[in-house]
Amino acid sequence: MLSQLRRIVQDVAQEPVLSQALSGLVSNIKSALDTECCSVYLADYDQHHFMLMATDGLNPDAVGKVAIGFSEGLIGWVGQREEPINLAAAHQHPRFKVTPEVSEDRFSAFLGCPIIHHRKVLGVLTIQQGTERVFSEDEESFLVTLGAQLASVLANAELREAASPGIGSKSRSSQLNGLPGAPGIAIGEAYVLQPASDFNAVSLQRSEEPDKELSRFYRAVRITKAEFKRSSERMAEHLPADALAIFDVYQQLLDAASLGQEIEQQIADGWCAKSALKRVVEKFARQFEDMEDAYFKERATEIRDLGERVLIHLLDTEQRHHKLPEKVVLVAENVTASMLAEVPRQQLVAIVSLRGSVNSHAAIMARALGVPAVMGVEGLSLMQWQGQRVIVDGYQGHLLLDPAEAIYAEYQQLISEDAELSAHYQAEVTLPAESVCGHRFALMINAGLAVDPEQVNNDVCDGVGLYRTEFPFIIRNQFPTEQEQIALYRDMLSAYPGKPVIMRTLDVGGDKPLPYFAINEENPFLGWRGIRLTLDHPEIFLVQIRAMLKADIASNNLHILLPMISELSEVDESLRLIKQACFEVGDELGLELVRPKVGVMVEVPSIMYQLKELATKVDFCSIGTNDLTQYLLAVDRNNARVASLYDAMHPAVLRALNQMGQQLQALQLPTSVCGELAGEPAGVLLLAAMGYDSFSMNSSQLAKIKWLLRRVSVQELQLVLNDALNSESPKVVRRKVHGFLEQKNLTSQLRS
Ligand code: PEP
Ligand code: MG
Repeated sequence: MLSQLRRIVQDVAQEPVLSQALSGLVSNIKSALDTECCSVYLADYDQHHFMLMATDGLNPDAVGKVAIGFSEGLIGWVGQREEPINLAAAHQHPRFKVTPEVSEDRFSAFLGCPIIHHRKVLGVLTIQQGTERVFSEDEESFLVTLGAQLASVLANAELREAASPGIGSKSRSSQLNGLPGAPGIAIGEAYVLQPASDFNAVSLQRSEEPDKELSRFYRAVRITKAEFKRSSERMAEHLPADALAIFDVYQQLLDAASLGQEIEQQIADGWCAKSALKRVVEKFARQFEDMEDAYFKERATEIRDLGERVLIHLLDTEQRHHKLPEKVVLVAENVTASMLAEVPRQQLVAIVSLRGSVNSHAAIMARALGVPAVMGVEGLSLMQWQGQRVIVDGYQGHLLLDPAEAIYAEYQQLISEDAELSAHYQAEVTLPAESVCGHRFALMINAGLAVDPEQVNNDVCDGVGLYRTEFPFIIRNQFPTEQEQIALYRDMLSAYPGKPVIMRTLDVGGDKPLPYFAINEENPFLGWRGIRLTLDHPEIFLVQIRAMLKADIASNNLHILLPMISELSEVDESLRLIKQACFEVGDELGLELVRPKVGVMVEVPSIMYQLKELATKVDFCSIGTNDLTQYLLAVDRNNARVASLYDAMHPAVLRALNQMGQQLQALQLPTSVCGELAGEPAGVLLLAAMGYDSFSMNSSQLAKIKWLLRRVSVQELQLVLNDALNSESPKVVRRKVHGFLEQKNLTSQLRS
């Protein structure tokens, strides 16, 4: 049953045309359950009804015509109750509604099951039979499981259709919704970057140019074969002849007489080369997988491996066909630091990441670069974006593909308004960040997540509050050498003479993997991350600290920050290593080195309860609200599915920050807040009311935050804070802060 189920879902996922996917679906279910009728209805929330979309058993002419109101009939009832309804004699039920067009008189038994995605009923699946009987528990659970698995596939299929107008039809603009990742609006051309090949990322597409597709396929096969030949020659000395035979088998499989022929046929049938390859490879791999014999089962892996090798070269050609547009909207399944490094900064106007969420590092990178971003637009085929004109609305998390001229003009207007607002903030950027009651705040920048170290004019900020050192590690193919690190760190330290530059030691893991240092974990955010990894590899930690110390010789403004500290022994061990590095560097350079100030990121909740001890060991701390929120609320910051639960404005997070603020002041431990909350207008106001007075943020936010702080008094903010702390939900908190801003006439100047 399980394999049948998987296959049914896969077939739907692979079919690009929704109506065809659904008609395949009902036939497959009907035959899997050996029943007489299967139908699927999809909800239309504008019309408040379920539309019959496909059937195998009812009158086929009713498809696309028969609609059943949300509160009508058994279909409406399944939707309202959000659970399966299993009836032996449907027509005797009081909710049964006669719909002559569907011709269902001959059926008695009825099982209806809702398809629910993110709490929303997307549709109803039904099976029906002539015999008066209740469907078995097995049949019911099969349909329920199928409904649950189909939900995301169907949600995505609808999106897919929205994104692709279909061959032959006139293009129309369509809006897609994701999550707001970085504020701002941009218009550009989608430029899709694919990671290493993966059939999962390929969704099926048709093509109207079979000849071109065929020549792409031949080219990819030619390169793959040449690779095999080279590999086989290279390995000839080391492998016995029978092991080398695998290369010949691969080559033959690609020949026209074998898989190649099937792929050519698929291309002739109208599939693009990638899709044809995927269909054939999946088909054969499945056939092998279904075999009893373990030897043959194993061959499925080889078929996939072979397919992926060809796919790499197909994608390669595709990528080369698309030259970098003038205004790049970078689109990727998962936008990574190295992808950003591929696009010149002047050409990058926006980022769209199909995966990830509001505080994923991809979103933070976008904010650091000051470009709008939309995250978590899952389920779309990447390549169908390629070359399309896109409007990216990073405020709302919306994307508009191929916008109509009127919409385009509207967004152009918004872009000009944004530019005016930003000029408005810039006018005060060199003035002190001082509230109307005379309270002076330190505003620093978060740096490091960009290709060129973003350096802000020294008069504008009070230093660097967080330098994320991971970027140079992520974009390389191996750990950067001590010399390379010295050069990078020196650039940053010397840009802010006389001001602190807080350099955080390597914080990889979580959603920041190193390409050359694989960490495969079930729960990467709870795993080997930040200081946990570097303390297990003192050779990496020591090289980094030594590079920082050497880079600091001339400027003497280095502060060292330790990420992901969850217990005090990690602080002790880090301090021991830092001391050792100071000694080594001093010895090497013949200098008496004074240990720079060392601080700790407060981002793991455990450390909030050990601040007293912490204060005796370190010189300062920096509050990382991004991780603190994720760990306090148990919500993965990188998971779009739970994005609505991730909110640093949650009253529990605010209370934790408030209590911590009071305790840190009593302990007189210098503190700054460097999480994203500090760069959010509503967030910084509440933090200021809690008594925090040093904030570090993305450089693109600094002018706006300074402008805002210069228009409020701490006393009035404390009243808002009081209200916020006693609110029940993040939504109410936001409403209260918004109300305050409105009362002060600041909202129109603060688009966020
Ligand atoms: C944080 O967790 O708040 C933080 C600033 O660090 P990062 O976002 O790099 O994890
Ligand atoms: Mg963090």
